[in-house]
Amino acid sequence: MDCIFCKIANKQMGALLHEDDQVVAFDDMTPQAPHHVLVIPKRHIATINDTTTADETLLGHMIAVAKNIAQQRSLDADGYRLVFNCNHQGGQAVYHIHLHFLAGRQMHWPPG
Ligand code: AMP
Ligand code: ZN
Repeated sequence: MDCIFCKIANKQMGALLHEDDQVVAFDDMTPQAPHHVLVIPKRHIATINDTTTADETLLGHMIAVAKNIAQQRSLDADGYRLVFNCNHQGGQAVYHIHLHFLAGRQMHWPPG
């Protein structure tokens, strides 16, 4: 399977900010905020629709890793945004699930 995020998770390309047994985190190559980090599972899962109850711990862990990045960078008090895009109307471009961590500027609502 030719998946760019599997290659990053397997350390075939790119630099990692975080790695543990379940997930990796790295800088988004087209940052939409001063801090834009992607947290992805090491295991290939195409969309949030493809997750099951067995993945609930993994999904919670992805959020915990993002929260820890915010704390490590002292961004937690000012705040940040966490986003999963799902399928085409959700704006998903890479079909390996990823949690966007965005911080360092004022976010707006509704999103575009
Ligand atoms: P999404 O639209 O939610 O699928 O977001 C995909 C994100 O992945 C975009 O923000 C891209 O900038 C980012 N991206 C795509 N390829 C790479 C890559 N090789 N390294 C880092 N970020 C990437
Ligand atoms: Zn993948």
